[in-house]
Amino acid sequence: MKSFRKELWFQTSRRREYINITHEVEKCLIESSVREGIVLVNAMHITASVFINDDEMGLHSDFEVWLEKLAPEKPYNQYRHNGYEDNADAHLKRQIMGREVTVAITEGKLDLGPWEQIFYGEFDGMRRKRVLVKIIGE
Ligand code: ZN
Repeated sequence: MKSFRKELWFQTSRRREYINITHEVEKCLIESSVREGIVLVNAMHITASVFINDDEMGLHSDFEVWLEKLAPEKPYNQYRHNGYEDNADAHLKRQIMGREVTVAITEGKLDLGPWEQIFYGEFDGMRRKRVLVKIIGE
């Protein structure tokens, strides 16, 4: 069995951002030379997500509005976590958008559905953060 590990680094210019990382994960897959197996992609931070959905700007805007209803960024003092920090909303947003995705690898390709794309979801950006890609298989 082959095993491959790589970290992808991101620094967004805004507090919240969605980045399509499907191509980056495909590059890892090529580097790993795994043909049949599993790839795990997870955020290594508790205020960021990795999730699969449509690469459609309207939907991303809908995510922003929906998440702001569930866990508004401001006022900061509405959250007990915000004693020394201002990112309680980012922890909550990450929780609902998820930590990781697992994708099957078939014949050397990501076995995704027709509209499925892999995203890094940043909720407390403007600093360097990373995503782990772990591939196992043959
Ligand atoms: Zn925090």
